[in-house]
Amino acid sequence: MFELKATSKNARLGVLTTRHGKAETPFFMPVATKLAVKLISSKDLKDLGLKSIISNAFILYLEPGLPLIKKAKGVHNFMNYQNVIFTDSGGFQMASPAFLESINEKGVSFRSPIDNSKHFITPEKDMEIQQSLQSDVAMALDYMPKFEDNYECIKESVNITYEWAKRCKKAHTDKKQLLFGITQGGTFNDLRKKSSELICGLDFDGYAIGGLGMGEGSELLHKAVKNSIQYMPKNKPRYLMGIGSVKDIVQGISNGVDIFDSCYVTRHSRHHVVFTREGEVRINKQKFKNDFNPLDKNCTCFVCKTYTRAYIYHLIKINELTWKRLVTWHNLYFVRELIDEIKTKIKEDKFDSFYKNFMKKWK
Ligand SMILES: [Zn+2]
Repeated sequence: MFELKATSKNARLGVLTTRHGKAETPFFMPVATKLAVKLISSKDLKDLGLKSIISNAFILYLEPGLPLIKKAKGVHNFMNYQNVIFTDSGGFQMASPAFLESINEKGVSFRSPIDNSKHFITPEKDMEIQQSLQSDVAMALDYMPKFEDNYECIKESVNITYEWAKRCKKAHTDKKQLLFGITQGGTFNDLRKKSSELICGLDFDGYAIGGLGMGEGSELLHKAVKNSIQYMPKNKPRYLMGIGSVKDIVQGISNGVDIFDSCYVTRHSRHHVVFTREGEVRINKQKFKNDFNPLDKNCTCFVCKTYTRAYIYHLIKINELTWKRLVTWHNLYFVRELIDEIKTKIKEDKFDSFYKNFMKKWK
């Protein structure tokens, strides 16, 4: 399922094989919670060279519902995207105050924000949902603590997540679908160690680092990542959930992470943020009014080959919505290209010098 091809320092290059083909790691997945990446079609994803996306099983279970997805013959056919689709269990959304009724070791009780109907999701039920969606990679149901939770709460989440992981493993019978376990532990060293050791003892197809990006800050985040990874096996993929910015992705790769997902890229695109090799710029600033350069002078995407900063600034000023799509396109292309360059550096065992240079330049 996963083959490690090369390493450079701690950075890794590998191949993840799924029933919808192979995806070279490291890779970044745009978030398609409801089987739609905001402003980006399935054809766009193909044209952008994005080999994987992540959807949300729990949200799809609520809307459009499993019978309709079944009628459409699975999530790939429904949205006509034939590359790798991950589904998150929805543990994170279920635990949000907007949904949650109660949570105990049996499962999660919550109300649907769509029709206020009551649902009780157990690890077994979650596996049933993800298997009927026919995603390529399912995620075990985890117990998501809040960042402000104290040590005892996070310790409890580590224990319950382990109990649920065992039940998910047992209930998961579709051998063509990969199943990843999720580790918790907040920013506590001993809990990260405990959770990694427990979950990695269950022989999942891959291991995720969950419960981060909750406001702990970059330093604590990457410390927790390192702490989790050192207890993970080398022959399985590692997935840092919900992270993050371009800098976090590059830093994550330097620590040995293989897979990322985040709504950072698409969301920031809609808030005027443009990625360039020197860092992020806000394209709605007055100084771009007369700037006839492309968004990023080193970028080869169709937006940069076709339009200037001045034109995109103009679209923003006249409130023509096309600018959001153009910026989203460029930023997704930018991240994919950057990771492709990193893969080449790993192959040549030159990741370290690339990393130092990138960190020095990125603002
Ligand atoms: Zn571009």
